[in-house]
Amino acid sequence: MGRASAFALHRAGTWRNAALQGVEEAEASGYMGPIMTKHFTIRLPDGSVRQVEEGTTPADVAAAIGPGLAKAALAARVNGELRDLNRPFEGDAELALVTARDEAEALELARHDFAHVLAEAVQNLFPGTQITFGPSTDDGFYYDFAPTPERGPFTEEDLPAIEEEMRRVIARDEPLIREVWARDEVRAFFLKQGEAFKAEWVMELPAEETITMYRSGGWLDLCRGPHLASTGKLDPQAFKLTRVSGAYWRGDQKNAMLSRIYGTGWLNKKQLAEHLTRLEEAAKRDHRRIGQDMDLFHLQAEAHGSVFWHPQGFIIWRQLEAYMRRRLDAAGYAEVKTPQVMDARQWEQSGHWGKYRENMFVIPDEVPNTEEEGPVITGDADWMALKPMNCPAHVLIFRQGIKSYRDLPIRLAEMGVCHRNEPHGALHGILRVRQFTQDDAHIFCREDQIVDEVRQFLDLLDAVYRDLGFPDYQIKLALRPEKRFGSEEMWDWSEQSLRDAVVASGRDKPEFGWEELPGEGAFYAPKLEFHLTDAIGRTWQVGTIQTDTVLPERLDAAYVAEDGQKHRPVMLHRAILGSFERFIGILIEHHAGRFPLWLAPVQAVVATIVSEADDYAREVLAKLEAAGIRAEADLRNEKINYKVREHSLKKVPNLLVVGKREAEEGTVALRPLGTDARQEVLSVDALVARLAAEATPPDLR
Ligand SMILES: [Zn+2]
Ligand SMILES: [Zn+2]
Repeated sequence: MGRASAFALHRAGTWRNAALQGVEEAEASGYMGPIMTKHFTIRLPDGSVRQVEEGTTPADVAAAIGPGLAKAALAARVNGELRDLNRPFEGDAELALVTARDEAEALELARHDFAHVLAEAVQNLFPGTQITFGPSTDDGFYYDFAPTPERGPFTEEDLPAIEEEMRRVIARDEPLIREVWARDEVRAFFLKQGEAFKAEWVMELPAEETITMYRSGGWLDLCRGPHLASTGKLDPQAFKLTRVSGAYWRGDQKNAMLSRIYGTGWLNKKQLAEHLTRLEEAAKRDHRRIGQDMDLFHLQAEAHGSVFWHPQGFIIWRQLEAYMRRRLDAAGYAEVKTPQVMDARQWEQSGHWGKYRENMFVIPDEVPNTEEEGPVITGDADWMALKPMNCPAHVLIFRQGIKSYRDLPIRLAEMGVCHRNEPHGALHGILRVRQFTQDDAHIFCREDQIVDEVRQFLDLLDAVYRDLGFPDYQIKLALRPEKRFGSEEMWDWSEQSLRDAVVASGRDKPEFGWEELPGEGAFYAPKLEFHLTDAIGRTWQVGTIQTDTVLPERLDAAYVAEDGQKHRPVMLHRAILGSFERFIGILIEHHAGRFPLWLAPVQAVVATIVSEADDYAREVLAKLEAAGIRAEADLRNEKINYKVREHSLKKVPNLLVVGKREAEEGTVALRPLGTDARQEVLSVDALVARLAAEATPPDLR
């Protein structure tokens, strides 16, 4: 047994003296020995200060403040570090107690605990199963197991029994005790238990790392922590196991295949119920399913992560692209097109070869004739790479010809097709792909122009998001990370310029979710991030703008300033949609396939009730097409209800029903999508005028 747990037992008997009665009394009692006892000064967020004896824990301080807080406290922030409630102070400290009100932290702690409870439950039910890792995730947790060969991988059928066992573990309310162990002890312990994975892992932890084990009753796991004080702090009704999948040990295909169990975990039953409703809603909106129903695109294994756009899907793309072009033209951008493949030397110079090579598709400059020279391409080949980003190519355009300060700013835009070699497992529909088209642009400007350029960009982005149905978005400023290039001075002015631009645009307000995120900038520059809120409350980071002085330096971009000397321009990298693929995926899920009329692939279908109306339907169709409306006629000999169902599934926004009567009167019965049987009878001219107005893109209205 490690030292810390012996210490914990000792502490449990003594804390009341120390924390409640004060230092002098405790010393006078001689309980811990007056000479050996150290005292620490603990400062609370309200500014109050407490003296405590060595061995006192944050839980003790909470209890000393009051029984309510003792019950509510979940963990502690000690000098900024999240820790167990029962881990004794090691010196003077700033202490903040974490309760369920600190939702993000409380959730993360609970999810990590759920992962441990899951592992313990699985080992209780399936002896011989080995444990590996189990982190918290955005909505819950997972744990990777190595089941015994006889047992085989877990399946969804196992989940109810495991959930039940997890509830039993929670009900036992075992304290989660942190123990410091020696590395060899841990290894020996796990080897004895037949836990090869944990035994392997502990030997690879950094030498300086304090190795901790967490004990819950008789069960132990190697873990950094922190954890809640006991399993009973978890709400047994606030989690659900959701699915199982395969996962390689340490994410490497060469290693053993493990069995991963996922769960979602929350602080209470209500949160879980809300989450499950959101999941259901999200499943209904899944862009892959709607993409198939509407025949927009498909993906197949022969082109992992690259989208096959079908005619209907590409109509959405073309509308969006044409819209963005009009917006960029009006905002003073010049559009360019740059090479798809460039020499490795170019990528070396830009720094991508060193930092980014594993994500790049690399190809030989000249492919040997396989008959004469054999099929092997050697390491001596001259290498080229598919561009993972457009930035270096835009600098190369900027460098053509001498630029003067009067030429700046220069705004180069490109609907740039990029490739990144993402692992298959990371791909997700059209939201995470390998080939994507950015709405990319780079603004080359002087330092004194940054604020104004960024402010103009904010106005452009705001107009685009509103037009596309996202009036709610949040602006974040990601500040300098710990590991970074460039001088402190550069970071100071670039962060301040971005901040000033947001203030100048009047968007430094809570309704824009305005906040600064320390440490989250890119290694070469700070950036503004834009997060959209969709119809079911999910957020998506899409747009970004960042300042950059590194790439102009590396690629030797310069302009002649007023003083006649060469100066480096600042480069602003910016995107509004991010990529067309992902943005269309977000649009599909946000609108659940019911696109605003100007984006809808098919805007109206003329459907006949009887074949006598066929000629009339063709006339109506011709008038719609003449007005530029994307329309089709459905003259099939099918029941009208059948036609309605089919076009509803394809999310056709307007169904125009025509029968004998409409043909005689020169009218149509308009049935907008989702209005069931409600319909409105209109003259053809009135209908065409109404749809044409509604189908006009927002920037042209
Ligand atoms: Zn853990
Ligand atoms: Zn860029």
